[in-house]
Amino acid sequence: MSTKPYADREVWFFTGSQDLYGEETLAQVAEQSQEVARALDASSDVPVKVVWKPVLKDSVAIRRAMLDANSDDKVLGVVTWMHTFSPAKMWIAGLDVLRKPLLHLHTQANVELPWDDIDMDFMNLNQAAHGDREYAYIATRLGVARTTVVGHVSNPAVTRRVGTWVRGAAGWAATHELKLVRFGDNMRNVAVTEGDKTEAELRFGVSVNTHGVNDLVAAVDAVEETAIDKVVAEYEEKYDVAPELRADGERHDSLRYAARQELALLGFLEAAGAKAFTTNFEDLGALRQLPGLAVQRLMEKGYGFGAEGDWKTAVLVRAAKVMGEGLPGGASLMEDYTYDLTPGSELILGAHMLEVCPSLTTAKPRIEIHPLGIGGKEDPVRMVFSADAVEGAVVVSLADMRDRFRLTANVVDVVTPPRDLPKLPVARAMWAPRPSFEVSAESWLTAGGAHHTVMSTAAGIEAFEVFANIARTELLVIDEDTTRRGFADQVRWNQVYYRVAQGL
Ligand code: MN
Repeated sequence: MSTKPYADREVWFFTGSQDLYGEETLAQVAEQSQEVARALDASSDVPVKVVWKPVLKDSVAIRRAMLDANSDDKVLGVVTWMHTFSPAKMWIAGLDVLRKPLLHLHTQANVELPWDDIDMDFMNLNQAAHGDREYAYIATRLGVARTTVVGHVSNPAVTRRVGTWVRGAAGWAATHELKLVRFGDNMRNVAVTEGDKTEAELRFGVSVNTHGVNDLVAAVDAVEETAIDKVVAEYEEKYDVAPELRADGERHDSLRYAARQELALLGFLEAAGAKAFTTNFEDLGALRQLPGLAVQRLMEKGYGFGAEGDWKTAVLVRAAKVMGEGLPGGASLMEDYTYDLTPGSELILGAHMLEVCPSLTTAKPRIEIHPLGIGGKEDPVRMVFSADAVEGAVVVSLADMRDRFRLTANVVDVVTPPRDLPKLPVARAMWAPRPSFEVSAESWLTAGGAHHTVMSTAAGIEAFEVFANIARTELLVIDEDTTRRGFADQVRWNQVYYRVAQGL
């Protein structure tokens, strides 16, 4: 399921023009726009099929094209380009009904001017420089959320940005297709993991519903021993299993119970059609262990997850899984845990009780068993590893600010832990936040960003920017350009903007 989120997806390529130019010119427009669409389709940066559509020349056809894109679930979004001049009142009805993500590609067929041959015929054919301005005017006037990419398709920076837009659009589609299962409610008394599930369904499309943990317990009890045998064999092959957990080890039964939980969770989520879930260590019913390894394995398979009932972070993890699909790196629930405050080389140590996804490492994780200080259950099995060093990763949180959702993101450099952590029995990541530890943490606290995040080392900040833009949701970015004063102002001004923008 989640392994190939782009397999049957498309974006549609629309070229704007008008009848004024005559048959011959319109034939050239069609031919050249097909070349542009083909170049995008052929680029390895663009993870879906790019489907060229016949040149649009009037308001009726434009509106119909947009309605068709809306109604086709294969379509992640639409690309528009005004090769010639396409008077933009023709685009009002179409843009007004468009409900899919929009990319405005501002390009042209040629790279260089044909200096010696250029005449008025060439000028009439190649006039995106003002055709796209006319179009962008109406898109802006209508308030259409969109991504604008400028440049020739032979430029790798252009195909990269188009690819990133496709990924952001895929994240948006993924949250709209998302069903999220919560086992139990949020951790008692925690504020930031709460939120408006009804608003989330309108804003992100996600359907969030609670299931009794007893139903999961029943599923866990029903798992067949032969199925467990297979999963345990996979553990032994894929991971470095601690001797005490192996078939001849004295705690092998605990590993088998973790496999039982994994199979039960997988079956439960498949039956519910859900691709994200939450657990809560305070509400485990008759489960013998807090699911640790099981949760890590499901995240590795592409499921979104949030701990302590944190469904908002589970949504982000699922979106990041889809946006980063096929890229090096991964995505996981993460929690800012503790710091190394050595002046000048401050680092954040992130982890969770157990649940960090092994997609963050290319090393072979070790499966271990250790006591857990809270929850009062049997010792849980978990994978232990350190996340790979990656420059330009991102941590993103989603908070409910009462009148709206706020995404807060920090661009960070994940580092190899400078020293061993021999007694730390959980998976972890260490990172240096941009622009500096102090400015990052101060800005994060000013924004009211959560302690739970998704850490994504595959999809980067640009994909999240596209996602937020499509979802019309505030995104505060802390990166190398952030200053204390500028950020604090941005938080204040956004407060006004988003209240005004959402109307009454
Ligand atoms: Mn937590």
